Amino acid sequence: MQFTRINPLTGTLASTAEAMQAEQMPHIAQLAQQGFKAWSAQGPNSRRAVLNNAASELELRRKEFVRAMMEETGATEGWGMFNLTLAASMLREAASITTQINGEVIPSDKPGCMAMAHREPVGVILGIAPWNAPIILGVRAISTALACGNAVILKASEICPRTHSLIIEALAEAGFPEGTVNIVTNAPADAGAVVGALIDQPQVKRINFTGSTEVGRIIAKRAAEHLKPCLLELGGKAPLLVLNDADLDEAVKAASFGAYMNQGQICMSTERLIVVDEVADAFAEKFAAKVSQMASGDPREGKTPLGAVIDKATVSKVNSLIDDAVSKGATLLAGGKGESVLMPATVVDHVTEEMAIYRDESFGPVVAMIRAKDEADAIRIANDSEYGLSSAVFTKDVARGLKVAKQIHSGICHINGATVHDEAQMPFGGVGASGYGRFGGKAGIDQFTELRWITIETEAGHYPI
Ligand code: NAD
Repeated sequence: MQFTRINPLTGTLASTAEAMQAEQMPHIAQLAQQGFKAWSAQGPNSRRAVLNNAASELELRRKEFVRAMMEETGATEGWGMFNLTLAASMLREAASITTQINGEVIPSDKPGCMAMAHREPVGVILGIAPWNAPIILGVRAISTALACGNAVILKASEICPRTHSLIIEALAEAGFPEGTVNIVTNAPADAGAVVGALIDQPQVKRINFTGSTEVGRIIAKRAAEHLKPCLLELGGKAPLLVLNDADLDEAVKAASFGAYMNQGQICMSTERLIVVDEVADAFAEKFAAKVSQMASGDPREGKTPLGAVIDKATVSKVNSLIDDAVSKGATLLAGGKGESVLMPATVVDHVTEEMAIYRDESFGPVVAMIRAKDEADAIRIANDSEYGLSSAVFTKDVARGLKVAKQIHSGICHINGATVHDEAQMPFGGVGASGYGRFGGKAGIDQFTELRWITIETEAGHYPI
C-alpha cells in the first residue's frame, strides 16, 4: 500500500511512499537487531570511516534533496542547502566522536578493587523526525546513535517521506552492515499505531522524538509503560530580548532572520520580541522597514527570502492568531493575514498576555512584539511561557547579557545572536514543554550509550559471612 504527499503550493503530487503497517514492525526491529550485532562489533575507526562516507554520500545527493524539500514542504533553496550542509556536518561530528566515547576509572574503597565506568552501545534506537528541517532532524535522530554503535530505525515524517528516504538511500551506500540503518514510512492516519508498535518492540531500547509537544507527551507515556528512556525535542516560543543599550540594527537583523527563516517553521524561531519601552518605538520602526522588504514567493523561482508554509491549516492558524490579537488591541507593524500558503512576513505589536499569540506557538511567519517596562520585566515576560528551547538577548554590555541569559529558563540562550542557531557539536535541547535530553556532540553520547559499573578484584576477597 502506498500513500501520497501533495505539494502544498501547487496541489500536485510531490511524492509517494509505502504505507507501512504496525504488523510489519516486529520484522523491522528484528532486522535492526541483527544489524546491531554486526555494527556494535566494529571498532571506532571503522565506524568513523563509514560515518564519513555517509556524509559524502549525502552531499552527492544535494540537488535531489533540495528538490524533494521544495516539492514536499515548500522550502526555499537556501533552507534546503543549509539543511544538507548542517546534516553532513552532523555525520562528520558523529564520526569524530567514535574514539571519544570514554569511560573512567573510579577510586574504590575496597582493597585491590579496580572500578570502571564503562560505556556500551544500547541496542536499537528509534528516531522520529518532523518535516520542518527534514535533513537536519532526520540525520540528527540517528547520527550520534550510530556513532555509539547502535542500530537505528528512522520513523519518517508523513509530510516528507521522499526527503527522509533519501537520507537512508545515501547511508545505504556508506558501508553500514545490513540492518543497521532502517526506515519506516506510514500514512498520516497510521502514525499512532505504527509509532506505538515500534516503541513496543523489545529490541527498541531508547526513543528520540523531535516534533510537537502534544505528540511528545503521547510518545513519552507509551515509552514509560516499558520504562524506555526518551529524548524529547519539542515545540518552542523563543523570546528575543532587546534591552535599552542594544545595538538596534544588529537586533533587527537577528530578529528578522530568526522570525522568518523557513517561514517561521523552526523550533528555535523567534516567536516573541520582548523590547524595553525606552527603545521600543525606535526598534519597531527599523524592524517594520526591514520586514516589509521580505517577500514570500514560489521557492522554485528562488527570488524571495520566504517560501510556502506547510499547509492551509497553518494559514488558518496564523490568521486566527492575528485576528485574535488585533481584536484585543494589538497593531500590525508589517504584513497581515495570508490568503494562500505564500504568507506575508508579519509583525504584531503591543501584544499582551490576553492574546493567544502571547503563549501559543505559531510555527508560521508571524512574530509578536511585547513591550516591557525594563530589564526585569523583560525577563519576567520571557519566562512567562511553558516552553524553554531557544532564546536571545541583545545588549552592548556583554556581562549584563550573561546575567540576563542566566535568568532565562531555556536550554539555549544567545547573547547578541539570533534564536535560530544550530551546530552539530553543541548541546541542543530544551526545558519544560520543550522537552528533555540533549542532542549534539559529547552531550549526545550520554543519550545513546549505557553507562555501566564494572569491577575487577585483584586481591583475595574478605566477606563478612
Ligand atoms: P508532529 O508532532 O505533528 O509530528 C512529528 C512526528 O510524530 C511524525 O513523524 C508523526 O508521524 C508522529 N506522530 C503524529 N501523531 C502521532 C501519534 N498520535 N502517535 C505517535 N506519533 C505520532 O510535529 P510536526 O508538525 O511534524 O513538527 C512541528 C513541531 O515540531 C513543532 O511544534 C516544532 O516546534 C517541533 N520541532 C521541535 C524541534 C526541536 O528540536 N525541539 C525541531 C523541529 C520541530
